[in-house]
Amino acid sequence: MTRHVAVVGAGIGGLAAALDLASRGVRVTVLEREALPGGKLRQQEVDGARIDAGPTVFTMRWVLDELFDAAGTSLADHLTLRPAEVLARHAWTDGSRLDLFADRRRSEDAIAAFAGPGEARRFGDFCDRAQRIWTALEHTFVRNTQTNPAGLVRRAGIGGFRGINEISPYATLWSTLSKQFKDPRLRQLFGRYATYCGSSPFLSPATLMLIAHVEQRGVWLVDGGMRRIPEALAAVARTKGAEIRYRAEVEDVLVDRRRATGLRLADGEVVEADAIVFNADTASLAAGHFGAAAARAVPPLQSGERSLSAVTWAIHGEVSGFPLSHHTVFFSSDYPAEFRQIFQHRCLPGEPTTYICAQDRGAQADAPAPHGPERLLCLVNAPPRGDIKGFEGTEIEQCEKTTFGLLARCGLTIGRMTATPVRTTPAEFNRLFPATGGALYGRASHGWRATFQRPGARSKIPGLYLAGGSVHPGPGVPMATLSGRTAARILLGDLVSRRR
Ligand SMILES: Cc1cc2nc3c(=O)[nH]c(=O)nc-3n(C[C@H](O)[C@H](O)[C@H](O)COP(=O)(O)OP(=O)(O)OC[C@H]3O[C@@H](n4cnc5c(N)ncnc54)[C@H](O)[C@@H]3O)c2cc1C
Repeated sequence: MTRHVAVVGAGIGGLAAALDLASRGVRVTVLEREALPGGKLRQQEVDGARIDAGPTVFTMRWVLDELFDAAGTSLADHLTLRPAEVLARHAWTDGSRLDLFADRRRSEDAIAAFAGPGEARRFGDFCDRAQRIWTALEHTFVRNTQTNPAGLVRRAGIGGFRGINEISPYATLWSTLSKQFKDPRLRQLFGRYATYCGSSPFLSPATLMLIAHVEQRGVWLVDGGMRRIPEALAAVARTKGAEIRYRAEVEDVLVDRRRATGLRLADGEVVEADAIVFNADTASLAAGHFGAAAARAVPPLQSGERSLSAVTWAIHGEVSGFPLSHHTVFFSSDYPAEFRQIFQHRCLPGEPTTYICAQDRGAQADAPAPHGPERLLCLVNAPPRGDIKGFEGTEIEQCEKTTFGLLARCGLTIGRMTATPVRTTPAEFNRLFPATGGALYGRASHGWRATFQRPGARSKIPGLYLAGGSVHPGPGVPMATLSGRTAARILLGDLVSRRR
């Protein structure tokens, strides 16, 4: 008899699981609350211009390649991807600027010109170390199921033990960077990698430096915007027989005799299933948003354990005074204060480091600036307090002033906007992703234990599986995709063995 799996959410993790399962002959129904697939890969429209308002690039292209290959098709048949030549331009209020390139040698030359040959040499050492950390963890952890430190050592075996020793879980990223680089601007630049997982460089393990290596292996832009990825996944899943239903809000995960047996939708419809893949944030499951019985599927996440939220502005306007690259980061003058304010004082930073994605500019070193108004996404990090009444108000207005003030001090003016920018705050992110406070990356990677505390694919309720950025191996487009694939693999194994 054909087994039926219901997937809650058409985010990237849910779609990856749906595609893998449908490709293997499982009957799949995806229930998505919104009118479109993609979740955080969303666009906002400003004066008719569609602006990517979530992820703007992705790494680890091989994750998507493998997913499409396994479905008997090819990524290149569905999406046009372009590699970024410039990873990002970095700017400081003292007028200094540094471009990092996909080509490591070019970055070394740029760093030598920016901070001297010693720093360029140390950057080389940093890249080598990042590569060793990645190599130690790729198969033992990232592509694998969740485990604990002892399990990790066991997976590494005797040969891999030295590599595991190198992953530096006990030192913070910041303390390691402080030893690695003399120039404080370089510490700040590479410390920013922690924010890719919604975390503070002052609290995250140095292990996160592996992101430097992942970036050097390729950063990809998608023609037509990042939304094309979930659209392509949904289209291929449909050709494999998956049914994807939009505007279908799941209200309850049904549990009978301690096993997940189906879903109840907001309109009362019941969808019975042999197993469920849950792709919304696991915090909402633990908070009881999917019923009291399902709440015990994962441990609750305390508000102090949440990752970063953000304030974003989608803008259609003309830019002058600063040569934006596709990605430009404008750094605050006091990084420790910025993260203290967000994670300790839990308020918006007085002077936020600001990221701008100029979406009409290619990521080539000589990419021309467009004529007239262009599509911009501007993002600053924020505390995940979108569920606290009265948090925003004047604080957001003040944050907007200081953000655009910082840009102005770096020379950038955004003028002649064709419409009012569309602002998204932690409260709005909390509305989109309930019970998170607007945290966008699940649990923060603070302390050496945090990574091991992310839920794995198997929840505590038999028949209920987890996929997405709040689940192992973590947030980001490729990681959430991997989580979906892992959930599908484990679920299939369980269905076959009828263990669960
Ligand atoms: C502003 C921003 C910038 C980012 N930048 C990057 C980047 O540059 N590179 C990168 O790799 N990653 C980036 N990320 C992270 C990345 O977008 C996420 O980690 C990833 O998309 C999470 O996917 P997911 O599988 O967890 O699903 P989500 O995107 O969280 O989707 C979950 C889905 O479940 C649905 N859902 C929830 N509740 C219900 C319900 N009751 N019934 C039915 N459906 C429901 C939601 O509507 C949603 O569609 C960024 C994220 C944000 C927000």
